[in-house]
Order: sequence, then structure tokens, then C-alpha cells
Amino acid sequence: MEKKIPLSEAQLREVIKKFPTPFHIYDEAAIRQNVRNLISAFSWAPAFKEYFAVKATPNPTLLKVLKEEGVGADCSSLAELILAERSGIVGEEIMFSSNDTPAEDFIKARQLGAIINLDDISHIDFLEKQAGIPEVISFRYNPGPLMASGNTIIGFPEDAKYGLTRQQIHSAYRIMRDKGVKRFGIHTMVISNELNSDSFVGTANMMFDLIIELSQELGISFEFVNLGGGIGIPYKPEQQPVDLARVGQGIKQAYEEKIVANGLHPLRIAMECGRMITGPYGYLVSTVLHKKAIYKNYVGLDACMANLMRPALYGSYHHISVVGKEHLPCDHVYDVTGSLCENNDKFAIDRALPAIDIGDIIVIHDAGAHGFAMGFNYNGKLRSAELLLKPDGKVEMIRRAETIDDYLATLNI
Ligand SMILES: *Cc1c(COP(=O)(O)O)cnc(C)c1O
Repeated sequence: MEKKIPLSEAQLREVIKKFPTPFHIYDEAAIRQNVRNLISAFSWAPAFKEYFAVKATPNPTLLKVLKEEGVGADCSSLAELILAERSGIVGEEIMFSSNDTPAEDFIKARQLGAIINLDDISHIDFLEKQAGIPEVISFRYNPGPLMASGNTIIGFPEDAKYGLTRQQIHSAYRIMRDKGVKRFGIHTMVISNELNSDSFVGTANMMFDLIIELSQELGISFEFVNLGGGIGIPYKPEQQPVDLARVGQGIKQAYEEKIVANGLHPLRIAMECGRMITGPYGYLVSTVLHKKAIYKNYVGLDACMANLMRPALYGSYHHISVVGKEHLPCDHVYDVTGSLCENNDKFAIDRALPAIDIGDIIVIHDAGAHGFAMGFNYNGKLRSAELLLKPDGKVEMIRRAETIDDYLATLNI
């Protein structure tokens, strides 16, 4: 996928006059189109629902845009529940997929009427005591070594802290059935940032088999299966996005062979994607402050890993454009850094780029999910503004940048 910027150089320079770099900017029209593509891949399914993983881009303006497209919210903390609520997303439009959950989070989720997806068998008693048993319940399944795959971000299921084992999942639904629960869902999330469409079909097959087994053994019926998030995005220009239509068709076939054939239709298909919804449509825009030539050549930005941690945290590739120099040869090699006193504060290492000058505008691509959201204040760095490029071409600030006063606000001085 060729990496493009949805603003011309002139437009971007106008935006920067009003909103100084660094900032994140999201492309509303592209986000809307993308989510429509996801939903249409499941147009065959009974009431497909995407619950956007709020943690990916926790901004109410974006949550409202997504709500207009029929998307709910996948929350895992009190603050995320409140963001959903303030965005007008309540009741069963919220999926609460938490782990290691504080009591107050369960209480808030119950108050909002959210669908609660429990991460552990021991949370049954905890939930009952703290917030009461809800009308609908879901459990997160961890297939452990039964699923012979895994990838670098989540790892192998048996090493992941999430979910219930195969044995526990049987007991958990039995306990809930015996407590009088009538409405059931089931959840899993075993892959992250996956580009192979067959993986999602594989996950659906695994879950459909489990649903058949549990339904028959316990005499319960499932309203929905939540296949989690994990749809990857092509961070590298040579990668291709997941073929959503193919995922939809593959899951449809499995649905017919397993769910329909066993009389378990209708079963709602839910997903809680974050990354693929907003990731490719968010850009971190920064300005070159310094150049430095020592044993290697460095370009220092006014952004740092507090604005986008993925390269430092996972060694992730994020494509970099030098605005106005997109068509020049990439005949220079740089480490592109931020200003933290941490040597891993680098957006790119040994990256071939056009010759860069101080003052150049740098756009870091695919920063729309797990970008701003992972921000932190180490070294006294302040979180940036977030901007929204509206479908009519106007640019709106949807979160102001932090100030030094914000930084000092919690201190006793
Ligand atoms: C992080 C997470 C998601 C979203 O994952 P993406 O890779 O952003 O699609 C969904 N569900 C749960 C439970 C998560 O922890």
C-alpha cells in the first residue's frame, strides 16, 4: 500500500500555523469508509456488531463518529466506560472486556447496562458480590496450547494472562446457567496485528466448535460470539491490508457449516477491533529540530516516544514521509529520534530517506491507533493535541495539547 497523506503540503503548512507541531491528525472520511467496509463484509451475518476498542484511540469525538456508523465501544477500564458514556454509547452498545478488574469498574459497567465479558472463573464470585450477576454474560476463552499459533504482540495463548482454560470455560457457563442466567455470549482474542485473513476464519471455526460443544452439553444457547480485535494493518508499504470481504466470506462458510447446520442460528457475530479502524487514518505530524552527525546521522524531531511508543516498545516499523520530498530519492540514512533521555526513543533506525533539513515537516504514518493513547509524561514531555480532518476539508481540534500547568496540576509544590 502506497503511503499517502490526506493533506497537500500547502494545506498542512496552513494547519501548522494554527496548531503547532507535534500533533496527531485523523482523517474522518477515511475512518468512516473503512468501518463501512468492515460492516459490509459481515452483511450476511445476523446483526453483526463492531465494538471499537476504546484503548486504541480514546477520543469521544472519534467515538461519536463511529457511533454514527453503528459501532459500539469495547471498554476495559472505568475511564473508558465513562468515555463511552459521555459519547452517548451506553447499555449493550458497550462490551466490557477487562482483566484484573477493580470492583468499581464492574459496578460502573453494570450501571451502564454494558455486556460484561469475564476474564476469569474467579470473577464470577467477585462480580456477584461487588455488582450482582447481570442478565447477559460472556466469558473470554484462552485456548492455550490447543491453538498452535500466536504472534509477537500477544504471544502464544498459553503464555497470555487472558481468559479461561478449556476446562474452566465449561464450569463457568454451568455455574452461570445454574445461577439463572439465560443470555450468553462468548469471546476470544488470540491474535494481534494479524494480516493473514485465514487466521480470523480459523478463530471463528474454533469458537463455533466450542459453542456447539457448550450448547449441547449445558443446554444453553448463545446470542453472540465476539471474535475480538487483532486485524492488522499494513505498516510497511510492501504489505497489503487484510481482505475483509474474504474474512467475511470465510466466516460465513464456517457459520453455515457449523452454526446453521447444528440449529444454533441466529448467532450474532461481534468484533472489537481497534487498530484497523483508526490506525491507518491517523498521522503524527512533527518538525525537524536538529540534525546531528556523529558515528551515525541523526534527525531530531519535536515529537518523541511519548507521542508514539510503538517503535520503541515493539521495534515496530512506522513509515515516515518528509513532506514535499516524497518524490526525491531516499539516498540518505538516518536514525529519526525524539528528545527523551532514552536511547530507544527513535521512530526509525537506519532509515533510508531523502536529504532532510532542519524545519522539514515529518509525517509518521499509521499512528491512529495505539499512538496518542500510549502517551506518557516521562522527562516532562507533554501530550500533544489531536486534530480531526473533517470530510469537508476543515480541521478541528478534538483534544488540546497539555500545558506545563497540566503537568504540575497533581503536585504539591
Ligand atoms: C486491545 C484489545 C482489542 C483491540 O485490539 P486491536 O489489535 O487494536 O484490534 C480488542 N479486545 C481486547 C480485549 C483488547 O485487549
